[in-house]
Amino acid sequence: MGLIDSHIHLDDVRYQADRTGLLETAKEQGVTDWVVPSVNSDRMQSVIELQGPHVHIALGLHPYWTAEHHESDLDVLADAIENHDVVAVGECGLDYFLPDLNRDKQMTFFDGQIELAKAHDLPLILHVRSAVQAVFERLKAHNYFRAVMHSFSGSVEQAKSIMQKGVYLGFGAAGLNPKARKIQAVIQSIPSSHLMLETDGPDQPFYDQRGQRMLPQHLTRVCDGIAQLKGLKSSDLAASNSHNCKQLFGL
Ligand SMILES: [Zn+2]
Repeated sequence: MGLIDSHIHLDDVRYQADRTGLLETAKEQGVTDWVVPSVNSDRMQSVIELQGPHVHIALGLHPYWTAEHHESDLDVLADAIENHDVVAVGECGLDYFLPDLNRDKQMTFFDGQIELAKAHDLPLILHVRSAVQAVFERLKAHNYFRAVMHSFSGSVEQAKSIMQKGVYLGFGAAGLNPKARKIQAVIQSIPSSHLMLETDGPDQPFYDQRGQRMLPQHLTRVCDGIAQLKGLKSSDLAASNSHNCKQLFGL
C-alpha cells in the first residue's frame, strides 16, 4: 500500500467526467488507497458503487445536509451498514459554523450515528466545524472514541486532550496555507501516531489554487507539506499515516 487518502469524496459529481483518469494519475504518483465517506441518503448508493479493493467506503449523514435528512434515514443507514462492507460510520458530526443548520436536529443525527458505530464496532469519521468542544462532549457522553476528526481546526490544547482519548486528527491543504498559523501549530505539536492525511477533494483546494478542484493526486503535496512542517521525511509521514489508517479503519 502506498499513500492513503483518509478522506475524499470520490463520488462527487465534479469527478464524474474524469474519475478513472484522475485515480490512474494519482496511482502513478504513489497514492493507492482512498477512504470515501458518504454525506446523505441520496449519495449512499453512489459511494457504494465506487467500492473496490482500493476504495474503502464509509456511510453516514453529514450535518451540512441536516435540513434534508429524514428521521427514517437513520434506519436506511443502519440497513446499509449491515449489508455492505464499510470501514466507518460517517461522515457525521456537528457544524456550528453555518448558522442555518438546526442544532437540535444535528445532535439527534449525530447521537444516532455514534450509537450505530458503537453497535457495529466501527470507527467514526467526524465533520467538526466551530464545534470541537461540542463534538468531544458527545463522544465523552457516549464513551466512544474510535474516531478521526477530519480537517481538524481546533487549538493545540483541544488537540492534546482529544488525542489522549485515542481520537485521530486529519489534516489537508488548509494546513499548508502560510496564513494558517493555528492549524500549523497543531500539526507541529501532535505526534504522527495520531495524524492522518487527507485531501477532502474536491473541496478544500490549496491556497494557491482557489476555485480549482482538489484532486486525488494532490495528496502527495499534502504529505510533503505536512512532513516539512513537522521536520519529517515524507516517506516516514506516509508510513505513519498508512499505519494509522490501517489501525482505525482496519484496511
Ligand atoms: Zn468530507
